[in-house]
Amino acid sequence: MGTMGEPDAVEVSIGDDSVDVVVVGAGFAGLYALHHLREKGLTVRVFEAGRGVGGTWFWNRYPGARCDVPSIEYSYSFSDELQQEWEWSDIMPAQEEIERYLNHVADRFDLRRDIMLETRVMSATYDEGQHRWLIDTDQGQRVSATFCVMATGCLSVPITPNIAGRDSFEGISLATNTWPDEAPDLAGKRIGVIGTGSSGVQITPELASIAGHLYVFQRSAAVAWPAPRGPIEPEVAAKAKAEYAEIRRLARASYGGVGRFQGLLGLSAPSPERILEASLEERMAKVDEKGWSAARDWIDVSSDLEANAAGMELYREMIRRTVHDPDVAEALSPGDIPIGCKRPVFCVDYFESFNLPNVSVVDLRKGAIERVTATGIQTEQGHVALDAIVYATGFDAMTGALNRIDISGRDGRRLRDVWADGVGALLGIQIAGFPNLFTITGPGSPSVLANMVVGTEHHVEWIGACIDHMRSAGYTSVEPEEMAQEEWVTQVNGIAANTMFTAPNCNSWYLGDNVPGKPRVFLPYAGGLNRYIEHCDAVVAAGYAGFDFS
Ligand code: FAD
Ligand code: NAP
Repeated sequence: MGTMGEPDAVEVSIGDDSVDVVVVGAGFAGLYALHHLREKGLTVRVFEAGRGVGGTWFWNRYPGARCDVPSIEYSYSFSDELQQEWEWSDIMPAQEEIERYLNHVADRFDLRRDIMLETRVMSATYDEGQHRWLIDTDQGQRVSATFCVMATGCLSVPITPNIAGRDSFEGISLATNTWPDEAPDLAGKRIGVIGTGSSGVQITPELASIAGHLYVFQRSAAVAWPAPRGPIEPEVAAKAKAEYAEIRRLARASYGGVGRFQGLLGLSAPSPERILEASLEERMAKVDEKGWSAARDWIDVSSDLEANAAGMELYREMIRRTVHDPDVAEALSPGDIPIGCKRPVFCVDYFESFNLPNVSVVDLRKGAIERVTATGIQTEQGHVALDAIVYATGFDAMTGALNRIDISGRDGRRLRDVWADGVGALLGIQIAGFPNLFTITGPGSPSVLANMVVGTEHHVEWIGACIDHMRSAGYTSVEPEEMAQEEWVTQVNGIAANTMFTAPNCNSWYLGDNVPGKPRVFLPYAGGLNRYIEHCDAVVAAGYAGFDFS
């Protein structure tokens, strides 16, 4: 393997322009789809826009980029040989280690010969007469396929915020989600980071350790939970290898796709106590005992807004205990956004970074960014002179990558138009009107609310079984019934309606709030991976209820 996860030169089998399956994307999902469907004897072609495989772990190579699910669980389960031979070094692996793992997978299962890198799929058009998809790429290829599997990722379309003057900046501009292989040296420089989601929170301590001065431009204060990090003890790794089958079973039987190591992430069930019934002394005693997790270790915090606000007060107390300067602690304290609204952020040394003399927070709640200038960032509070700006501003999540492909289904209907007023998909796997098109971790599946590798493997295997079913029964096409899809969307919305994800004051990328003009719908299924898998199994047991075969 070359540097930065680049493969050695590989011969790609580009000869045939007609295959059984086209897969778009070569991250966790696309790689496994290729392997699994190829094992079934299908011919598969993968197109990937990036220069290497790995998806998320190819693109997001910023300092501090790291997974927040334990490596032992954030890894493929489909091959026991793979899980026995691969040695994870870190509890929560860094980007480089996951990228190396995915390159190993590509080599070990001889995947590269069917992957076309640096090739973006521009359109996918269903030919009703032939029952085939026609896929066009930016390299001028046209391939026809019986099935099209969109493994395009939930967090793969970077957002460029529309800040005036962005291009006028004469210093270094970087983005976490397209971090270059060889980034300019930032040591000693005045650096501004815009964004305090997971990426901004992860990069902050890294930049703090090298910057002349680091300014963190914060629009919403992060709700960030300190997480473990460090090497895996050899006995933990050995035990995992011996017990992988059980670890994987537990993962699929859990809400969030993490079975054995829930405790590491603070995902264990909260105590049965109610914060609203506890005195101030009792609440503070819990902070003394449990630290950060005291904020959510109450049964009512996740379901009752008043209890949630009381939990948030304990969270603010932990910030005050961690950050030395009371004004800085106040600036870093979340406002009235509930705990559990946005995607939880896990951190190492984030709050501690603000105790360093070379780190400042620019609290944009006191005055927003007005524009980027040639020499820095102008806010309503004043001008900050900078040598470098790092955008950690997120993604057009879940629907972004699909909507950027011109997907045209039965009767010429376009996915973009169908989804313009609201997003619908059955089980997050298929969309009515788009026969033989599958989405991996699509909207309406647990996807981003669970360990995504587990959700991905489940989807790939479901799609494989569905194709087997079609081949054995002689069907040429499958798509959801409109009614079944509507019922599923109603169920997905109903479950989200009773959670903090859709509480008043909540804005998040789960709802599409970070993309101007995006329809405001809660996109993932919040009922739990375990419940979702049970539902998918029941659909199959009932003869693929809700799916129409012809
Ligand atoms: P991706 O890895 O996003 O791959 C999709 C690929 O499709 C991309 O390489 C893209 O270039 C390609 N593509 C898209 N459109 C086209 C097109 N039109 N033509 C050709 N190629 C195209 N999840 C977790 O469960 N735990 C974590 O700790 C975690 N950490 C994360 C950290 C970061 C920084 C980010 C951004 C995401 C994280 N995620 C995490 C979510 C992560 O995206 C998934 O876990 C997983 O890697 C997704 O794999 P995927 O193959 O579905 O999509
Ligand atoms: P994000 O969570 O969407 O955060 C984007 C940040 O940029 C937010 O703080 C947002 O503020 C801010 N922002 C956007 N536009 C802005 C503007 N014009 N001015 C000022 N601030 C602006 O994106 P992300 O941090 O890249 O994370 C996205 C997701 O990727 C995560 O939620 C997670 O699923 C995944 N991820 C995971 C990890 C991990 O630890 N494993 C690491 C990175 C990413 P507002 O909140 O006010 O909108």
